Amino acid sequence: MESRWQNDCENPNDPGNSPRYHTGEPCIEAGCNLPAGTVWSPLWCQFHNAERLMRIEGQLRRIQSFCARAEGGNYKEEVNYERCA
Ligand SMILES: [Zn+2]
Repeated sequence: MESRWQNDCENPNDPGNSPRYHTGEPCIEAGCNLPAGTVWSPLWCQFHNAERLMRIEGQLRRIQSFCARAEGGNYKEEVNYERCA
């Protein structure tokens, strides 16, 4: 089935976003009063949790591409390979 969501956390109808994970507390994001709690974290509402996970994924992609370029040669001396593993 085609999905417009790239990741399950972005889909409000994913079982991981079901109300059974709601903690009864509001989301910790300032100004957001949506119910907190997903299978991924008890602290954020579905929207802010997805936003947070996508941001982390973007950072990991940048690190990954930096390491790939480093292995190509240009950055070799500046890179700590253990950190990129
Ligand atoms: Zn929120």
